Amino acid sequence: MAEIKCPSCGSPNVEQIDADKYQCPYCGKSFSYRDTVVSQQPQQTHVFEPEAIDDNPGCFMNGLCFCLPVVGFILYFVKKNEQPNCAKSYLHWALVGFGLGLAFNIIAALGS
Ligand SMILES: [Zn+2]
Repeated sequence: MAEIKCPSCGSPNVEQIDADKYQCPYCGKSFSYRDTVVSQQPQQTHVFEPEAIDDNPGCFMNGLCFCLPVVGFILYFVKKNEQPNCAKSYLHWALVGFGLGLAFNIIAALGS
């Protein structure tokens, strides 16, 4: 019989309480044999591959987001799922551009 480990705390000293039910005396978790098999599978199936898509924001696009923050905000929402790095960069520059624009407006309003 394969070694059964608690899927919650990893303790190998679990008690069998039914045909396909085990309980961990340490953390009190009850589980089936299937739970342990699933939890022990190598987690290489969900490896994220950043090379799969071009996710590098160019200087031009960052500059555009900086000059036109609205464009940056729109691009962020459009790209955030498929190109998260680009989207974050666009949002960053849009916020910087928006903040500077706001500051200039306030200074202009105070000066007038
Ligand atoms: Zn446990």
